[in-house]
Amino acid sequence: MAYRLHCECGRELSVDLHQAGSEIRCPCGRTLVVPSRLTLQSQDPVPGDAAEDDAGDLNAAVVWARRFRALGAAILLIALAGAVLLFFTRPEKPTILGWSPANTVRFFRALEAGIDAPLFNFEADYLKQVRFHTAMQRANLLLGVIGFLLAGAASLALWFEKRSALRQDETEEQDETEERDETGKQATLMSANRRE
Ligand SMILES: [Zn+2]
Repeated sequence: MAYRLHCECGRELSVDLHQAGSEIRCPCGRTLVVPSRLTLQSQDPVPGDAAEDDAGDLNAAVVWARRFRALGAAILLIALAGAVLLFFTRPEKPTILGWSPANTVRFFRALEAGIDAPLFNFEADYLKQVRFHTAMQRANLLLGVIGFLLAGAASLALWFEKRSALRQDETEEQDETEERDETGKQATLMSANRRE
């Protein structure tokens, strides 16, 4: 909300609630003291001002932060589910148990050829599966990190926003108490003057 402040030079300045109690400088050079929040709020605000748009922007930012947090959490959940799935679908090491004796003998004969022997089909298949599984694990990890960062950054932004809103409320209450004290003092002074 913006409020009008009149300068002696005739200019009309627009001030914001959060400027209450501070000093602003008019283009004419005079320094004006912005009244307290209560005084400002008792005035009619300038309709359709920029400050209101600011508040709208802020609310939109909070809405977007919440959306990003939900999106990040969803991505993180998908990555977790992916990790569980990948764990249970990890390739199993080939075993020669259950092979026919003839195959086993052929296999051990081939091993004599040493490291240069061509891979058996089952070995090649296993290596291919391991490579695919590793690639999937990396992609899943990346997805998880993206989800974590997104949700984390959005939560942090929301936390800061909440904290600054709380602080603003506190200063507002303080201002109002001070204002009440001031009006109380003024009333006492005035009644004292009248008695004299
Ligand atoms: Zn002025």
